[in-house]
Amino acid sequence: MELTRTEFEQMLETTCQSVLKYLFDRKFTPVQRKITPEEQQDNSELTISKQPTNQSLQELLDRIMTAAESGRNSRHPGYMQYMPSGGLLHSVLSDLVGKCLNKYTGYYMGAPDLVDLECKVIRWLCSVFDLDLDSGAFGILTTGGTASNLSAVLMARDKLLQPNIFHLGCVYWTKQTHASCIKSCRIAGVAQNVRIIPHKPANSDEAFTIDLDELEKQIQDDHRSNLCPFLIVANVGSVDTGAIDDIQGLSLLAKKYQLWLHADGAYGAYFALVEPIPKALESLNLCDSISADLHKSFFLPLGTGFFSNVNFAELSLELTREIRGLRVWLPLKLLGSNTFALCLKEKLDLIQYLHSELEQIPGIVIISKPVLSILTFRHIPKILRHLFEKEQRVVQDANVESQLLAHNTQLLSSINSRGRVALHSTKLYLNHDDEQAVMVIRIVVLSYLTHRTQVDQCISDIKDSCMTIDTQTVASM
Ligand SMILES: *Cc1c(COP(=O)(O)O)cnc(C)c1O
Repeated sequence: MELTRTEFEQMLETTCQSVLKYLFDRKFTPVQRKITPEEQQDNSELTISKQPTNQSLQELLDRIMTAAESGRNSRHPGYMQYMPSGGLLHSVLSDLVGKCLNKYTGYYMGAPDLVDLECKVIRWLCSVFDLDLDSGAFGILTTGGTASNLSAVLMARDKLLQPNIFHLGCVYWTKQTHASCIKSCRIAGVAQNVRIIPHKPANSDEAFTIDLDELEKQIQDDHRSNLCPFLIVANVGSVDTGAIDDIQGLSLLAKKYQLWLHADGAYGAYFALVEPIPKALESLNLCDSISADLHKSFFLPLGTGFFSNVNFAELSLELTREIRGLRVWLPLKLLGSNTFALCLKEKLDLIQYLHSELEQIPGIVIISKPVLSILTFRHIPKILRHLFEKEQRVVQDANVESQLLAHNTQLLSSINSRGRVALHSTKLYLNHDDEQAVMVIRIVVLSYLTHRTQVDQCISDIKDSCMTIDTQTVASM
């Protein structure tokens, strides 16, 4: 088990070369490559046995790199689906260092100066959201948004509900809210009364944000039924559309009815770094807690989240843990926080540019305009366009909808098959009460590797695909 300096040095060198080759020497596309049966690797050699393998480290690394070929290529600059995670390479260095140090940072005394370093990171992260450190604001570095949201639900529950009335607790959010929130409520035993509050319709100014009047009515109803409203989850950049709920309005309601206000900013919160700060993000410090993933809009490798809370307590679910702070500290020191702010600003500008270009393409209907760096659209084929002339986003006709679904599915695969960008689709309820959600194509510009070149390729691939498919549809009539 023990390695000498020379042995470890050689292994590091081999590993470095292998990683460099993977990162810089490959030709690859952002979309999943279809693996042919001949190419299908025999995975049986991946199984573990009692004896050491007779393969060399180099061979094992090659095997890992082959395994990494399957699935999505989220490191590709044209990757604009799901949630691109940058995987900033500076953090790879601090991970190596952190793992080599292997210091225990669950308690201050285990590594006082490293804990101090992590605390500085946390204080800096709190300052991004203008939280008041003097009145006790603090936070923890988590593994991601789910862990952060769970922490929020647990804290709200423990502050506002006695253990014998968990089943009476009511929580409030919209259809835009991330699935990790209901998962968290189930774990916390407070999922009995989850109220899905209507959101503003897609064709309104505050599209996809929570309707405050409906929320207040529901809270009052629940009080009348002797239930215990205790938690509102605000979307601060929903995954589907980037919608940001009205934090100031929610904060007033939360104060009036004494509820915990949690901001799920797993995707959106760090856009608060941008100058001038997007208006909707100005009041994050009114929330009782915030989730903000560093592995999304802070470009760090997967497994890095942040949970902030106005009152520091024994916040973390973890005890023995890695020193996640290094992963944030080293890139911030080397690059300066301004670099992150500018990179996020670039994404906001890119999506605005993309938006204005897409609007010019005949038949494209923008379903959700970019609030942060996400937009959704669909394309109406020529043969159906007359139906959409008056009211841009009229739907509700099942037959028309199924044609649109087929058309846009084909469009999406045509765009992705060009191999320069990867987009994906999602389903949106345009109005809260709609029976059916409609399929839309979603674009998220978030990787630090994505620049104007990729966005121009995206626009041109969408344009060409729309034209090609429109011609085919007409020809097949
Ligand atoms: C990604 C995301 C989550 C879940 O975070 P993980 O880091 O994947 O656990 C929760 N909420 C929102 C809004 C997200 O974008």
